[in-house]
Amino acid sequence: MNFVLPAPPTASVEVTGTNARFPVRRIYCIGRNYLAHRVEMGHDDRTPPFYFSKPADALVESGGEFPYPADTGSVHFEIELVVAISRGGSNISTDNALDHVYGYGVGIDMTRRDLQSKAKKAGKPWEAAKGFDHAAPISAIRPVSEIGHPDTGRIWLAVNGEIRQDSDLNLQIWNVQEGIYHLSKLFELAPGDLIYTGTPEGVGPLHPGEVITGGIDGIGELEIKVV
Ligand code: MN
Repeated sequence: MNFVLPAPPTASVEVTGTNARFPVRRIYCIGRNYLAHRVEMGHDDRTPPFYFSKPADALVESGGEFPYPADTGSVHFEIELVVAISRGGSNISTDNALDHVYGYGVGIDMTRRDLQSKAKKAGKPWEAAKGFDHAAPISAIRPVSEIGHPDTGRIWLAVNGEIRQDSDLNLQIWNVQEGIYHLSKLFELAPGDLIYTGTPEGVGPLHPGEVITGGIDGIGELEIKVV
């Protein structure tokens, strides 16, 4: 294939226990998937969770740096379970959904909260709040062949070693099967898709110089420096 410009590199993520990497096609994110986070954000409604997305080249691997982004005074961390998809499809049933999962990781849905608040009030899209450069830190992915399908386990995030988010995967409103079921009704999933599955309560601002760590029991941990 001839391109008129150098082709952009394929985004990818380390896989625990192998030198091979997980190639990333798209990043989908679930919003409002833990009740206590809905409440802290001022939503007490019972509307279903929903989706937005981030560009694949926004990934930052553990050990990397998160440059404090422009045009914001309030960047929030959101620790999340990440699902890595190995088999695509549309209208995937909850019964079959887990057969489409390659593995799991730990991600941070970085959010320019001030821009998100403005966008919500104005009825405008969330791209500038969610889809900016470096907005998707992620741990190494652990394959299902190693860990199965964890549906319970502590999920936590710390800033400079101080715990700020501390919850459990079993408090998700949509579990992984339900997330895949609903998402695959809207979009045809494909190998290489990642799904950030929503954050528990305790989100808050980060600042240059801080070290953000986070993890999920049985899956992994990540560490990112804000610069
Ligand atoms: Mn989120």
